[in-house]
Amino acid sequence: MSSKISSHPRVRFAPSPTGYLHVGGARTALYNYLYAKKNGGEFILRIEDTDEARSTQESLRGVVDDLVWLGLMWDEGVDPVTLKDVGPNGPYRQSERLGIYKEIADKLLKDGKAYYCFMTEAEIEKQKEEAKANGSFAHLQSPYQDWPLEKALERLKTGDKAVVRYKTKGLEKDYIFTDLVRGEVKFPSDMVGDFVLLRSDGMPVYNFCCVVDDHLMKITHVFRAEEHLPNTLRQLMIYEAMNWAVPEFGHMALILDEDRQKLSKRKGAVACGQLKDEGYLASAVLNFIALLGWSDPQGRELLSVEDMKQVFDISRLNPSGAIFDRVKFKWMHTMHLRALPNADLWKAIQPFLAREHMELPQDPAWQGKSLDLFKPYMETLADAIELYRPLNDKAYVILPEAEETLKWEPTKAVLASWKNLVQAHPSDYMTEEEFLKLQDEVKNQTGAKGKHLFMPIRVAVIGKPHGAELKTLVPLMKKSSLVSRAEQALAKA
Ligand code: GLU
Repeated sequence: MSSKISSHPRVRFAPSPTGYLHVGGARTALYNYLYAKKNGGEFILRIEDTDEARSTQESLRGVVDDLVWLGLMWDEGVDPVTLKDVGPNGPYRQSERLGIYKEIADKLLKDGKAYYCFMTEAEIEKQKEEAKANGSFAHLQSPYQDWPLEKALERLKTGDKAVVRYKTKGLEKDYIFTDLVRGEVKFPSDMVGDFVLLRSDGMPVYNFCCVVDDHLMKITHVFRAEEHLPNTLRQLMIYEAMNWAVPEFGHMALILDEDRQKLSKRKGAVACGQLKDEGYLASAVLNFIALLGWSDPQGRELLSVEDMKQVFDISRLNPSGAIFDRVKFKWMHTMHLRALPNADLWKAIQPFLAREHMELPQDPAWQGKSLDLFKPYMETLADAIELYRPLNDKAYVILPEAEETLKWEPTKAVLASWKNLVQAHPSDYMTEEEFLKLQDEVKNQTGAKGKHLFMPIRVAVIGKPHGAELKTLVPLMKKSSLVSRAEQALAKA
């Protein structure tokens, strides 16, 4: 009889640092995080980096940064800055736990639950070929499965290489467990043959480290992607051999694209880092992915992480594939963006404005006013770049497309009148109404109308005859800036 699993909830997110953080991975991390927060437990970040060829420090850095960006902070794992261990159950990087796996493998060997297998690749291949030729689906039969451990150890001393295999012989029953998302799952034990625990170079395989770590890190619930469901059989076998309590499992349905295919980058960003670079808010990403496989008990569509922490409940996890509807995501994002207080939104657009080296007024009142005007035109934070660009004095240039307008007969007079009237304006900024009145005044003074009036003024404000609405922009521009731009335009007319 195995020991009982603790009632104190501990969950983990266990990325393999072999690429970027996919939205599917982010959803796994989110559900684990929410489960820990809702139930007063711990959320652990474990790094599954035993695949030496594919794991990289850059990928680890990226995954950690993306989790930080999402705000899914963990209680134990690697430090988000130094990537060094933090917590009482470390190391948290599997590559630093090799001694632990070796010790557990030795115990399984000693107990006769695992054995050293000296079969070469060629021998394995030959057995497979023969089975195929006989139309047999039999698993690998290793001639070493009943070797006494001492005999195997003697042979190892000669320098021969061996993997450590789990011994499935004698396991006859079905393995049944209740998945928290999918209900009862039944695996016949003969679904797998004697699988490898340690490779011949001593590196452990995923199923083995996963069980050892989940046990030693006192994990009570494993929420992970559906693709790991078949692995659960091997993992249950290891728990059984070790006589360890089995955690609860919940396997989450795949995220699909609009064509019900596996989500791929061809249809748009699937990496959290890319969503961040494209100017999406983490709060909207979290809201959106939370609802891909879970639903709010009150049926709300717009939720903050705080809201989710209050109501997250695994009974509302959905076993069918969820569709990543990009139109809905954009809508949701716009709602988050509009709901953001101006001071926060201003902060959020800074990295995007900085990319273009924009220098804009420091005055919070001006910043708030500009956001009130621009917010309805913003879908992403990156949209701020083009909206604010005309307000950046350093970027004011008269573009070649303004040449024709500058050659028109009434242009010079329009520009001069505009410049003088702006200069005479009694305050630093003008309102939309004052601007419209001033424009009428230019019309009265010069007799220019229609495009002969509007286009030269546009050139004097934004350097080109088409584009942004002046009545939105001009109230955000300082008188001195408008005058200096008008002078530059006039010099070219
Ligand atoms: N390293 C595995 C992955 O990235 C984790 C699987 C698990 O959660 O057990 O898919």
